[in-house]
Amino acid sequence: MRKHFYLMAMAIVVLGFTACTDDHDNTVEPVVVTDDKPFDYEQDMDLTVRPGDNFYRYVLGAWLDSDNPSPSMYMQIQNKMNAVFEKAVSESADPLMVTVRQQVEQALADDSHSVVLLRERLQMLEQVETADQMYAAFGRLHELGYNPIFSVKSVADAGRKVVGVLTTGAMDRTMQQVMTTKQSAYVEQYVPKYCAMLSSVGYSEDRIQQIADHAVRVETMEQQAFRSNFSLLKAPELALTRVASAENEPLLEQIYSLMGMDYHELKDKVEVDNAGLADLLNLFASAAHDAETVTTLRDYMIYKVMNLDALMLPSMYKTSAAIMSEEAVSPLKYYTYQMMTETVGRENIYRDECRDIMEQMRRLFIERLDGLDWMSAATKAEARKKAEQMLFFIGYPDEWNEAMHPQTGGTFLLETATQIRQYANKIALLLAGKSIVEAGWDYLLTFANFITDNACYTRNTNALLILPAWLTEPRFDATKNEATLYACATTFAHEFCHGFDGKGSQSDAEGNETDWWQAEDKAAFQAKQQQLVTLFNLLEAFPGQPANGEKTLVENMADFGGMVLTLELYKRHLLQQGFQSREMDDQIHKFFIAYARIWQIETERSLEALQQQYLTDEHSAAHVRINGMMRLQDDWYRLYDVKPTDKLYLAPEQRVKIW
Ligand SMILES: [Zn+2]
Repeated sequence: MRKHFYLMAMAIVVLGFTACTDDHDNTVEPVVVTDDKPFDYEQDMDLTVRPGDNFYRYVLGAWLDSDNPSPSMYMQIQNKMNAVFEKAVSESADPLMVTVRQQVEQALADDSHSVVLLRERLQMLEQVETADQMYAAFGRLHELGYNPIFSVKSVADAGRKVVGVLTTGAMDRTMQQVMTTKQSAYVEQYVPKYCAMLSSVGYSEDRIQQIADHAVRVETMEQQAFRSNFSLLKAPELALTRVASAENEPLLEQIYSLMGMDYHELKDKVEVDNAGLADLLNLFASAAHDAETVTTLRDYMIYKVMNLDALMLPSMYKTSAAIMSEEAVSPLKYYTYQMMTETVGRENIYRDECRDIMEQMRRLFIERLDGLDWMSAATKAEARKKAEQMLFFIGYPDEWNEAMHPQTGGTFLLETATQIRQYANKIALLLAGKSIVEAGWDYLLTFANFITDNACYTRNTNALLILPAWLTEPRFDATKNEATLYACATTFAHEFCHGFDGKGSQSDAEGNETDWWQAEDKAAFQAKQQQLVTLFNLLEAFPGQPANGEKTLVENMADFGGMVLTLELYKRHLLQQGFQSREMDDQIHKFFIAYARIWQIETERSLEALQQQYLTDEHSAAHVRINGMMRLQDDWYRLYDVKPTDKLYLAPEQRVKIW
């Protein structure tokens, strides 16, 4: 029934709004080009909603209201990626992985070797009484790759340099996930869970409670620092503040030497991160004259050892072969990324298709730039340079770098896991001092996970990264109607346009912070951004709450450019293929629906989640993204018969034009 209605509605729209181009005198029938590949989204639509009132609900209303909804695209991708990781670690024939799997089997039968090693490490920590002993234990744990409290990572800095950055300590995978979804209250439940396992190596209840209390305190501070750290790894420029002052230099020197590194050697490359990290630095320093802090940090390190190892110790924790293997290799991001790429199969990651679209996008952006009436030739020249020099990192590297592979392997699981962590630390430092152009994927895969469902633009390198989740089925699927592929391309173009959003436009082709705008062009650009802010303020983040156009401006700007460029590119592509009026409109129609489908996400089914997103996210809620963009597209008005009485209607002169 729904399907029938949908097809009828589609036919009416197409007939009603496409100029008839049939030439009645011509006896030769024109060749009609169509795209008959599957486009089966109607079951989630609510055709009782007027597209012009709420396009998101029109496309997804049935799914939003369903008591038994199918998993969203996001959920499907997440499940797929988790399955790929499991498959990779349980089936890869790589020697290290084979060794790990054998040792996991051994440990499942008898993990006493690992437990003895763990006890040794805990004992070393238990003996800590003075500040000097605490600092020495901190250094020893760093040698062993635990990275408690602090770690040093390679991060890209302005001018496309990779620099060593002091940042928060190691965090297990679950905690990282928790932090990216910002549920910080989780720390208080999570930390005691790991501390409780100490009972199986003889710790008393009271002592465990004490360790947990201390660990919660420090872990909470770690989380504060990590919040910025997370954005730092994603987009370093957001979080880097230059606080390597004369005042804290001696402390940094001490920390680096404890971590086995020479601060002076790294000095010009070293930056300290955020205020959260400064609190940790102060705590660390105060241990020198405060016995209570010595105890707190010692206990935190005990927790940290448990936190990073417990999942590999079946006699202490109910675990599984898959989890144990994943825990052991997960610090090696480059290695796991490579393994997962090979597991999915390069041919199933549509890298070249994406690269091709992106190169066309770059040319189209430059072409449109030339035609802009609000920008002077001088500013255009700089913008063009920036677009031309933007680096694209898409999917996976042309060749894997064997130097990023660990030649390692202990005689039992915890020993091997330790060596793996040590190797991952070594790699992270190796890259400091290189340029992003030479370090490329080696650098990106110190932090990017294959499993991450994301794409990002980094302005201090003027580079974008598109991860495989965006380039594989079910999202980017060559067997589906091409409109769905171009809908995905709005995200690729979105990342490109971050180079020219309110923040991206403040750095140049090389990623240096430079004002390359002529004053009057900048004023015009800012006025256009202000128009976008005003328009988004008119939409609702959730019922009764106006959206925050100011806070979401950067992302809305990227969405705007992404939509405008992709729609134009898609139209050109259709023309090239020989699509004509009615069939062409039919495809653009599908493209808009597929665009809304890209943002099918569970958050939209929960008021609480939308409220949380409003508070914490710089992205607009999905329905705001879709409705906010649709109402700026002239084609959408034409194809969906949007009238001045419809809620999303904007008069033509109100539809912002930027690129
Ligand atoms: Zn973005």
